Parts: sequence; C-alpha cells; structure tokens
Amino acid sequence: MAPKMYIETYGCQMNEYESDRTFRTFEQAHGFARTEKIDNADLVLLNTCSIRDKADQKAFSSLGRLRVAKTLRPEMVIAVGGCLVQSQGDEIRRRAPFVDVVFGTHQWEKLPTLVEKARKERQQIVDVDMYGWNKYKFLPYRSAIGVHPVSEFVTIQNGCDKFCTFCLVPFTRGREVSRSPEEIFDEVKLLSEKGTKEVTLLGQNVNAYGRDRSGQIGFGELLDRVAEVPELKRIRFMTSHPSEMSDELVERLADNPKICRHLHLPLQSGSDRVLDKMNRQYTLREFRKRVESLRKAMPDLTLTTDLIVGFPSETEDDFQSTLNAVNEFEFDDSFSFVYSPRPNTKAAKWVEDFVNADVASERLDRLQALQRAIQTKKNVQTVGKQYEVLVEGASRKNPKELAGKNQHHHTINFEAASDLVGELVQIRILEARHNTLKGERVP
Ligand code: SF4
Repeated sequence: MAPKMYIETYGCQMNEYESDRTFRTFEQAHGFARTEKIDNADLVLLNTCSIRDKADQKAFSSLGRLRVAKTLRPEMVIAVGGCLVQSQGDEIRRRAPFVDVVFGTHQWEKLPTLVEKARKERQQIVDVDMYGWNKYKFLPYRSAIGVHPVSEFVTIQNGCDKFCTFCLVPFTRGREVSRSPEEIFDEVKLLSEKGTKEVTLLGQNVNAYGRDRSGQIGFGELLDRVAEVPELKRIRFMTSHPSEMSDELVERLADNPKICRHLHLPLQSGSDRVLDKMNRQYTLREFRKRVESLRKAMPDLTLTTDLIVGFPSETEDDFQSTLNAVNEFEFDDSFSFVYSPRPNTKAAKWVEDFVNADVASERLDRLQALQRAIQTKKNVQTVGKQYEVLVEGASRKNPKELAGKNQHHHTINFEAASDLVGELVQIRILEARHNTLKGERVP
C-alpha cells in the first residue's frame, strides 16, 4: 500500500506552493498518497506561519494534536518547517521534542533527505540554517510535475529587503532572492502542458524581481516572457510594493491582455505619520498617484489591499485617515487585522505606544463594516455585466454549479450541463452575493 502523507499548511500562498510542490515530490519520487487523517499518516508535514500571534498559536496547538498521534503511532515521521520554525525553532524543539525533523524556510529542497535521515537514525534532525545554503536553489519542480489544476502558483522570488517595522519576513525568509527566469519559464511551460491555464507569480515583493542578480531581466520583462507561453491564458501576481510600481510596469500591465485586471497593493495605513513609523517608504499622496495612474491605464482594474489597525501610537485621527483612504480608493476587498507584535521586529519594542486591545478591535470592526459596505455596493454594480470566466471546478457549496474567476478575481458560480473545467466561457451576472457572484452562461 502507498505510504500516506498528511499536510497542514498555515499562512500565505507561498506556504501553499511549498507544501504542494513538496507533496508532489514525495508523490512522484517515493509513491506517497495524500491523506486527510493524521491517524493513518506515515509522514506528517506541518508548514507554519509567523505573520501574527494567532498563526503561532495555531501551530503550537497543532503540535499538541501531533504529540497524541505520535504517542499512538511512534513510527510516524513528523516534519515541522516554515516561518515559525525559522523564528522560534528552539521553542519548538523545547515544546515538541517528539518532532522528527525541524527545518527552516530554506530547507524545502532538502526535505526528502532530512526525512530519510530521521527515519534511519531515529533521532531529531534540525536544519534551520539560512546562510550556508545555496540561496538560488528553489524547490525542485520537474520532479513535482503531475496532474495540475487549472490555476497554479509559481514562486519567482523569496524574501524581502524592505524591513517594515512590523514584519518578520526579512528575518524568517531572508533577503530578496530571485529565481532564475529559465526555471520559471520551464515550470510555467510544464504546468501549461499539464493543463494549467492560469499562473499566479508569487514573491514577497515581486516588483523587485531580478534586482539581486546582475544582468538579469526585471519583473516587467518576466511578465511579458511568461505571457508568451502559448497555452497559458492568464497571469496574476502578488505581492506588489506601492513604492516599487514603476510607470513602465503600469504600461506593460495595461498592454498585455493575458495579465489579469486585478492588483493587490497593500496600503497598511492611511496616515502618513503611521506609514513613516511602519517604514513603508511611501506617503498617502504617492499611493494615490500610483492608484490614479493604474486606473487611468486600466479603468476596469480591481484593487485589493492589506490594512493594519492599532499600530503602535495610532491615534483616532490616524485611524480616521485610514477610513478616509478606504472610502476614497474603494478597494474591492481588503485583508485587515489588528497589529500583532512580532518578536525581533522594531515595532514590537514600542511597548509604551501599544494601542489598547479593545480600542484596536473596535477600530477593526468599524473598518471592516466600511469595507463590507463598499464591497457589497461594488458587487451589486456587476449585475447585468458580462465577463470572461476561467472555469476552475465544481462550486464548493453547490455541486450542480461550476465556479471560476473573471480577470478581476471575482469568484463566479453558474449552472452548466457539461464539464467546462479549464475553459474560458462568457458569463452574465445575475445576482451578487457577499463573496461570490452568480451568473448564467452566454452562448
Ligand atoms: S514589504 Fe511586505 S514582506 Fe517586506 S517587510 Fe514589508 S510587509 Fe514584510
């Protein structure tokens, strides 16, 4: 019987990408099958995140469940990796000595070897080194190519040089490292040969792509060259840093019909004082200028963002500036959170400026209510419009319906008699729901 692998992934799309490619490597090279139950797993992978305190807590609570599973089945190999391990590896070893492999954010490529070593030596293997490795060695992808969904992630860059004062990424993933364009093109080509029609290019700061490798192409050229893969219908990317979106890139986005009309551009705060304390390296005025040029070049662009409330020293006036900015830019969606101090970051040391938890949570409620109202208004405006939809599969809630996305990243459900997965179809919107739209096929 095929050995079974159980995976829990927390955090961002890059974590999802790493878990997925790792499973596929174990599947292709070692015959593993995926299981949704810890109880019958031979290998467990816990891919952790450290973006907020809640993410840490989730990982530690998963470790509690894994402790029970390991007691019942000591032969099971447990590997725990990712950002939390990179920032709190010693704590994980202390609290979970039963974990067989403790690995950081730069050991994905080595994981099969580490697992094998742990299995043979029957002792905990720890590898969290960020500096002694070949930083340009990204996850193997040729050995991980199997059957792929219509829409896939492809990592193009890892790490960040920005050092926002609230963020752990430069410490957990290290400095910006760009993957070689040849590898990216090769992976995209292989995926599209296997049926993938859309790729989302991932990086913490995709606009900085290529900057760390002399003589290498930049992000704009990379996008254009990926778009040349004939079977590929659509390209998305995230995340962009507002201070790094050049006019030249905006032009390229507008000129290339394969690049989707959706941009995720994190604002974080509407107050210049707070933006400065966050070390975001742009002002609200500069953000506004960028949004204006984007909307001028692509009037139908949807814009989503990230926002933090209750950042140390945020006043009610600062928060009002964030509400004003949300009203002004009318983001199509936003990911908003109360500030969470992260160990070793600058902002975590400004304890005397921390905003009272009740005040911060009340601000978050107000911000999210405003966002919901904007989103509902914008969703209703889509009724009667027609979109090209890339069909991804059955709708999650109604198996009689198919679901897909338009270029603007709206999820659209519609009834269909035949299997249209992977096809681009024309859909007219009939009804706007909170997070999805419902439509009908237009012949
Ligand atoms: S740009 Fe993004 S990833 Fe980089 S430090 Fe700032 S928040 Fe973190």
